[in-house]
Amino acid sequence: AKAEGRNEIRQYSGELVAKVSSHLSIQGDLRRALDNNEFQLYYQPKISTHDQSVCGFEALVRWFHPVKGMVPPDQFISVAEDTGQIVELGTWVLETACEQAKLWLDEGLVTAKMAVNVAARQFKEKNIIDLVRKVLKRTGLPASSLELEMTEGVLMADPNISNIVAVLRSEGVSIALDDFGTGYSSLSYITRFPIDTIKIDRCFVQDITLGSDKAAIVSAVTNLSHTLNFNVVAEGVESEEELEVIKALECDEVQGYYYCRPMSADDVTEWLKNRQA
Ligand code: C2E
Ligand code: CA
Ligand code: CA
Ligand code: CA
Repeated sequence: AKAEGRNEIRQYSGELVAKVSSHLSIQGDLRRALDNNEFQLYYQPKISTHDQSVCGFEALVRWFHPVKGMVPPDQFISVAEDTGQIVELGTWVLETACEQAKLWLDEGLVTAKMAVNVAARQFKEKNIIDLVRKVLKRTGLPASSLELEMTEGVLMADPNISNIVAVLRSEGVSIALDDFGTGYSSLSYITRFPIDTIKIDRCFVQDITLGSDKAAIVSAVTNLSHTLNFNVVAEGVESEEELEVIKALECDEVQGYYYCRPMSADDVTEWLKNRQA
């Protein structure tokens, strides 16, 4: 048993070493990537369940690594959060997304909101209010065209965040609660935050059927949200069956592969022009 324990420890520390060294190599890689502009934003539309119009886009970062190719955010965002590099990356994301949204607005292609993900670290290490003001001023994007997406974790990380959120909202920026249902907050908790939109996490949407537990949860969240005047977005809708149930449960918007995968700015422009035609 002792030997077995030792083996386990050896195995565990081996894994830990692997994890730490991959973490370190990503950290160094990220430094270079930030300097060399290896990031690009993709955009995924949110579609109204009422009239199929485009209600907004979510900006999603992609890393085009010179050796590894496209690295998905799940593989580097958490490292960037740990190292603090998310602050620099997040600033770049905000600027780039607002610049792009202004271009589409000026071309008359969209009037929809641009949603940008923000991490807890961005609230702690930068004056996010000043940053948002500066970026909106520089890009000329109206505040009403910007939405910030944050998870329950971000909102709960710091009691001061609800004050920051209130200031941003008073200036016209919208706030969405992301991945709703995956955190620790209860339904009653959300009534205490000044937000505009709830994004129901994909885990409740996947394979949802009428009459199921998932449907009961989505329905409860949607009803409460509407009472509170929140807009409800269902994330990760992949199939027609899921879409039909989500519609029946009266979610306002859907985002998912069923309509569209995240696309490069050029592909979105083409997609928007085709829709107009
Ligand atoms: P998220 O904010 O929940 O973004 C939605 C994720 O779901 C995206 O993954 C999107 O591509 C994916 N998705 C959309 N529709 C479907 C669908 O129908 N089926 C499935 N299976 N997936 C779908 P992505 O782009 O890989 O991003 C993963 C996460 O990385 C995001 O989750 C977000 O938490 C984080 N992230 C991405 N970009 C940024 C960023 O600029 N800043 C920060 N802080 N986080 C980001
Ligand atoms: Ca999001
Ligand atoms: Ca989400
Ligand atoms: Ca997510």
